[in-house]
Amino acid sequence: MPTSSKPPSGPPRGGRPSSPPHGAGRGRPHHRPEKVHPDRTSPEIGPDGLPQVSLVRRGVDRWQAGHPWIYRADLNGDPGLVGGEVVRVVDGRGWFIGKAFYSRQSKISLRWLSFDDIAVDDDFFRQRLLAAQALRTQALPGETTYRLMHGEADGIPGLVVDRYGDYLSVQFLVPAVEQRKALISDLLQEQFKPKGIVNRSDVSVRHLEGLTPEKGMLRGEAPGPVSFDEGLVRVRADLLEGQKTGAFLDQRENHVVAAQYAHGEALDCFSYVGGFALQLATRAQSVTAVEISELAAAQLRDNAAANKLTNLNVVVANAFDFLRDAVDEGRKFDTIVLDPPSFAKNKDAIAAAVRGYKEINLRAMQLLRPGGILITASCTYHVDEQAFEDMLASAAADARRRMQIIERRGAGKDHPVLLNLRETRYLKCYVLRAL
Ligand code: SAH
Repeated sequence: MPTSSKPPSGPPRGGRPSSPPHGAGRGRPHHRPEKVHPDRTSPEIGPDGLPQVSLVRRGVDRWQAGHPWIYRADLNGDPGLVGGEVVRVVDGRGWFIGKAFYSRQSKISLRWLSFDDIAVDDDFFRQRLLAAQALRTQALPGETTYRLMHGEADGIPGLVVDRYGDYLSVQFLVPAVEQRKALISDLLQEQFKPKGIVNRSDVSVRHLEGLTPEKGMLRGEAPGPVSFDEGLVRVRADLLEGQKTGAFLDQRENHVVAAQYAHGEALDCFSYVGGFALQLATRAQSVTAVEISELAAAQLRDNAAANKLTNLNVVVANAFDFLRDAVDEGRKFDTIVLDPPSFAKNKDAIAAAVRGYKEINLRAMQLLRPGGILITASCTYHVDEQAFEDMLASAAADARRRMQIIERRGAGKDHPVLLNLRETRYLKCYVLRAL
């Protein structure tokens, strides 16, 4: 329904548009050329009382092509909002095209909530959480550790909820969910009855949204170390002090796959608390785990001991140096895992990131015995699957190795990828085999 009418566009950036008459009814009574708004000081309000944000043609095209993010440049002027609002999204003529979260500071101004004119109330959030839970029940039956809500890919932009058995660990990444922290905590408590809800919003991406990092308990009791099963091993994680929300849940399925390929002498670089290293140790003769953080290395040793895995040696070192030295010393391995942290936080860093990936992958390929397996991952979303695979091909050529692609994997089923938002396909994990 058209909810505002704009004066015909005279000279661009003319006077302030007249206030919108409501209820003009359906149909296309008038042809009004798109008009660029001057920046607003008071927001335009739609018929349901929600603020209204209008898009320029390019933004409308993008929205209609299914992209769930709209950038600032595609807004029709500054909507004059403080940020964190649920807004009505309208085209240049005032026609409703959807509802979205609005962010004022971020370059991403709008994040898709609905194409339809539905109420975004408590029940809306409850239903999205339940729908997310339904997928996990279906895709991971019997599992009690998983990502329960994966932001935009599960229909609540900026909200991440990880379940570790009786505890939930949550990240609020945009103002709209930050401002609804109490509501979301209540809904999580009501639906899932956890013993405690941890807030792990201590992440630097919050700065892009004008939010400061935050950490603490939202509800219930603070968890001690929590344990969960991965294949044959039991892993302990610290939800309050560990990296991310405590563990790298996105690699869980890949960890288990690694056990299947592990053999001989194995090397795991960037080990953290042992997601891959412990799996390798269930099958391989020996495992060397390389991790730069003393704290993570100590937890990895504890995890190995708790699983009675005595064939695992933890080395606190920079993996780049370790790999270079290993090549220089002529060492060889049968199974190698590379799972580094993200190398590029923005587009400007892509070239350097690809160089970094190539360096470690080239060395790993040089270190493999014939028949050896390389499991190599990248969680940098600015380096997409094609770029990652091109880098691998170039590393293989430089290493003068023939490598077979055995599996092209991604994050687990609890980290769904949104078809129209390639950024949600951030994790690549290849299983390669050396001829
Ligand atoms: N493989 C792990 C997750 C790895 S996260 C899993 O599946 O659970 C990346 C890890 O690399 C972090 O623990 C970080 O401390 C470590 N790290 C970062 N830079 C490193 C470097 N240059 N050398 C070795 N480890 C590094």
